[in-house]
Amino acid sequence: MKFVDEVVVRCSSGDGAPGVVHFRREKFVPRGGPDGGNGGKGGSVIVVGDSQRRTLVEYSFKRNFRAENGKSGAGSHKTGADGKDLYIYLPLGTEIYDDETGEFLLDVSEAKEYHFMQGGRGGMGNAFFKSPTRQTPDFAQPGEKGESRSLRLSLKLIADVGLVGFPNAGKSTLLSVVTRAKPKIANYEFTTLVPNLGAVTDYDFLIADIPGLIEGAHEGKGLGIQFLKHIERVKVLLFLLDPTRLSEEGNQTLVQQYEKLMHELQQFNPLLTTKPKAIAISKCDLEENVDDNEVGEAIASLSSTVRGDGTEIFRMSSVSHEGLKEVMFHLSKLVTTACPE
Ligand code: GDP
Ligand code: MG
Repeated sequence: MKFVDEVVVRCSSGDGAPGVVHFRREKFVPRGGPDGGNGGKGGSVIVVGDSQRRTLVEYSFKRNFRAENGKSGAGSHKTGADGKDLYIYLPLGTEIYDDETGEFLLDVSEAKEYHFMQGGRGGMGNAFFKSPTRQTPDFAQPGEKGESRSLRLSLKLIADVGLVGFPNAGKSTLLSVVTRAKPKIANYEFTTLVPNLGAVTDYDFLIADIPGLIEGAHEGKGLGIQFLKHIERVKVLLFLLDPTRLSEEGNQTLVQQYEKLMHELQQFNPLLTTKPKAIAISKCDLEENVDDNEVGEAIASLSSTVRGDGTEIFRMSSVSHEGLKEVMFHLSKLVTTACPE
């Protein structure tokens, strides 16, 4: 699955049709009055916020969208038909900008219809212009042109689950094994420069790899701050903690890692820390390199830290795939209960 989050499209509402110049012609009525009908209105462009859509990918194939023009009127006061409105279905979270001026136009945040671009009005036929002083108007009004704009559609990532962890915790690796996203994986910090998003198809939720939080990220240090923004809208957080840090110099207990991450989130936006969450201790295939008791004890003190808020702790490995299903299943439950549909 490919996630396109920015596309430029040309979008136009329909032109109004011109009014008609026509005079009544009937047997035995030698000089019929004006009866030219009005032109139909051009179709409008309606933007529909659609909670089922996740991507803008369809708009990267077709790039020109036009509502129908109004139909011409006719004699005998016949008004032309209005052009059909054009409906553009966009995923929630799409922002629309004028691509030429950069002007912000619309935030598609709700599942509803937005009247986005008005179609051109139809012109009045000559019948309309008849007056006591002007019995035979021989002119009609032209139709009004529709609008035409180049639009930049920009979709903010709205993952269901955001992965939170220090650089190297194994976020990208986890994403690469549970989804078909192909994030860069390397054993050094800041490898992930943009958040990656993928679908966990077995359990039907979207998970985003949020690049490394570091201490001070909320102050704009490192690369953290830009990316913290992306997790504001997720429903559930998965904390990924790294047990191999226990044996490293300046070792960080699991409780310390967890609390630092929580602190970063808290500083950035306290609402984040109130989201439902789960904790996964990653790289459990490596645990033999770490003193077994040490991991056990670290987990025990972590669980007493989070006891009370119902946060569950899992051990898993993206390499051996141990524990992955349990984590994904648990996340899918949290996602469903976080947003009952
Ligand atoms: P990120 O910075 O959190 O995205 O971390 P990465 O996914 O890039 O992983 C950092 C390093 O840890 C890489 O060398 C991975 O191969 C390694 N790694 C990630 N997950 C596991 C795991 O479950 N087991 C083992 N043995 N190594 C892992
Ligand atoms: Mg990464």
